[in-house]
Amino acid sequence: MSASSGAEVVIIGGGVTGLSAGWWLARAGLRVLVLEKGIVGWEASGRNGGGATHSFSPFFLEEQRLWPQMDEMLGYPTEYRRQRIRIALNEVQWSRMMRSVELAERQGFAWQRLDRRQLRELVPLVGDNALGGLLLDYGGHANPQRTVQAYAWALQDHGGRILQHTTATGITVRGGRATEIVTDRGVFGCEALVIAAGPQTGMLAAMVGAHLPLAPARVEMIVTEPLPLMRHGGADGNGLYGRQTLRGNLAYGGGPHEWIELEGMATPPRVVTPLFRHLARRLTELFPKAAHARVIRSWAGIVENTPDGRPVIERLAEPGNVVLATMSSVGFGLSPASGRAIAELVQHGRCLFADVAPLSLARFRGLPSDWRERLGWIPAADDEAGGIGAA
Ligand SMILES: Cc1cc2nc3c(=O)[nH]c(=O)nc-3n(C[C@H](O)[C@H](O)[C@H](O)COP(=O)(O)OP(=O)(O)OC[C@H]3O[C@@H](n4cnc5c(N)ncnc54)[C@H](O)[C@@H]3O)c2cc1C
Repeated sequence: MSASSGAEVVIIGGGVTGLSAGWWLARAGLRVLVLEKGIVGWEASGRNGGGATHSFSPFFLEEQRLWPQMDEMLGYPTEYRRQRIRIALNEVQWSRMMRSVELAERQGFAWQRLDRRQLRELVPLVGDNALGGLLLDYGGHANPQRTVQAYAWALQDHGGRILQHTTATGITVRGGRATEIVTDRGVFGCEALVIAAGPQTGMLAAMVGAHLPLAPARVEMIVTEPLPLMRHGGADGNGLYGRQTLRGNLAYGGGPHEWIELEGMATPPRVVTPLFRHLARRLTELFPKAAHARVIRSWAGIVENTPDGRPVIERLAEPGNVVLATMSSVGFGLSPASGRAIAELVQHGRCLFADVAPLSLARFRGLPSDWRERLGWIPAADDEAGGIGAA
């Protein structure tokens, strides 16, 4: 395979970030090639809670604007549903919830309080232990696997290509530009390169001389057998995120996570008992009337954490044709907007709809090399016994 089999824009990573960026670029008429080491959405993008409610992000307005249009724009269903219900079981959870809605309110979004009776009408699985809830007239959730598929098909409909089972192993830089991507299936030339490889973005960024501090963590989700559909499927709380699927299953993750090292690890990682137990307990507390439901599936995934928990999206100064994107645990919901931002950075050198300066690498300048140790974000010696970080 020769470098001529590349594309104008090569994207490393077939998760929602890379696929969305590829779709935006392909619909703008650019020749796009996505390289994916496994299959599309096999990592976090196909394994997440599906939440799309990120009021703290510079992309919040665009996230909220785009999601209701995505099925039509992509031409395939994502199972997107508007609004969320947040439930508090105690005062600490209540004040955390309030901080988040006040942030959204300042950006023009409405919400209302729900007393126990109103909450029970919308979410009949809650119990008497619930303090109350909030109905957010913004935010939402979608089906991650359908969304990955929708991006991939839509990208291909616009002439983009996806090569699965193709691992990027090297990047050639010449004259201040990335010119070729070396893979286990040949070399691909590019005029612009997007690195959107989730937790692996740091390792690939190092190949072009950029230092991207990332700490990976294992998180898990559980899925119950189907239960009668509630009036509102987008309810969460008690440190959990997730949704009731259109088929009635409760699909939830959250609670404690576990710091890991990626090196030498098969990804995605296996499910471990302590995380699974914590999830089941929290779900039973949140929905006591579902305590009898059997868990029929569970899986683990990796989230990619930057030191401040915020994404990095940046077009590098050197090599000048490379955009880095890693989403630090919030990449599913933001993907319609992050993809658009990445596409604009490739095409115009700047994001036209939001200020991406707060997402640049410059904020980590001077970060001590032992930042993970200082934050306590290091894998425990015995991960089965107690390698569980704070929620
Ligand atoms: C259990 C769980 C729950 C979550 N819940 C939510 C939620 O409710 N809402 C939300 O917004 N976010 C959530 N997230 C986070 C969200 O899923 C991620 O931030 C998002 O999917 C990141 O997408 P990505 O495309 O950037 O990375 P990934 O999905 O990690 O995709 C990167 C891709 O790059 C590929 N790759 C890596 N290295 C190479 C290489 N060398 N060559 C070729 N390909 C490579 C990988 O195989 C992978 O497919 C959750 C995550 C998990 C795991």
